Amino acid sequence: MNLKITNLSKTYKNGVKALDNLNLEIGTGMFGLLGPNGAGKSSLMRTIATLQKPDSGSIEFDGTDILQDQMSLRKVLGYLPQEFGVYPNMSAESLLDYFAQLKGISSKKERQEIIKQVLEVTNLYEVRMKFVNGYSGGMKQRFGIAQLLLNNPKLIIVDEPTSGLDPAERHRFLNVLREIGTNHTVIFSTHIVDDVKELCNEVAILNGGKILTKGTPTAVIAALQGTIWTKVIDRESLEENEKKFNVISSNYNQDNTLNIRVQSTEQPDEAFVMAVPQLEDVYFVALKKDTVLC
Ligand code: ADP
Repeated sequence: MNLKITNLSKTYKNGVKALDNLNLEIGTGMFGLLGPNGAGKSSLMRTIATLQKPDSGSIEFDGTDILQDQMSLRKVLGYLPQEFGVYPNMSAESLLDYFAQLKGISSKKERQEIIKQVLEVTNLYEVRMKFVNGYSGGMKQRFGIAQLLLNNPKLIIVDEPTSGLDPAERHRFLNVLREIGTNHTVIFSTHIVDDVKELCNEVAILNGGKILTKGTPTAVIAALQGTIWTKVIDRESLEENEKKFNVISSNYNQDNTLNIRVQSTEQPDEAFVMAVPQLEDVYFVALKKDTVLC
């Protein structure tokens, strides 16, 4: 599986440039698209899913131009949008049976088998007789995955599935994604660094409609080795430190202090201790560089 995005741009009618000459190549596996709100993640996902057209640029899926030949992608795509509609008063099992019929699976036996399988993968088998509109947010998200798995898609796109889920639901949802990621290609967007850390074999950081960094989590973290420093400061001296050093993040401690993290090729001053880089540092460094460039 290869998805090649070249020079993709999109400006909405209100003048917002959501995608800015974006280039990205995605191969088989679990791909995490990480970026803050408004970065352009949904715009990119909708464009890949052929639900909206870019102003310029191209997207090739296994060598086919999908902006010209939308059906070639739609046939093999499973797309879970950020928000989806209201469900009728039907149990998960009957609703999946209905969707399976719509997807053209005419044999009842075949439908029963696939429905059992997707309910098990998404951990909904026990609650299959309950109405989907009574499900919690996390269960609805997992039902969305069950539904898109019915026609065994080659490419699965999941747009910010964990935002709004409580920690236990988020954990369950990530486990389901991890499971399907073992035999499907999944592109999944999030603003939560830990989602990517836990799950993805490749990550891209997006902001302002551009890809700022891309690679395996190990490689993007390794690129910062020896350049992340930490120091404990008083809360009041944050501004002063920000003026002097390249502060990428700060975390409150329970006493009146802060842990600051600074990126620098040399020890910023003798009070700083070298830290082991984290994916969060990669994220903040990428966003900060972007702000400076703007
Ligand atoms: P993300 O998914 O990363 O939060 P989006 O792709 O939703 O980012 O949005 C990128 C930018 O484009 C934001 O500034 C957003 O307000 C704007 N935007 C998104 N969709 C539309 C739209 N349909 N019309 C106008 N502006 C939009």
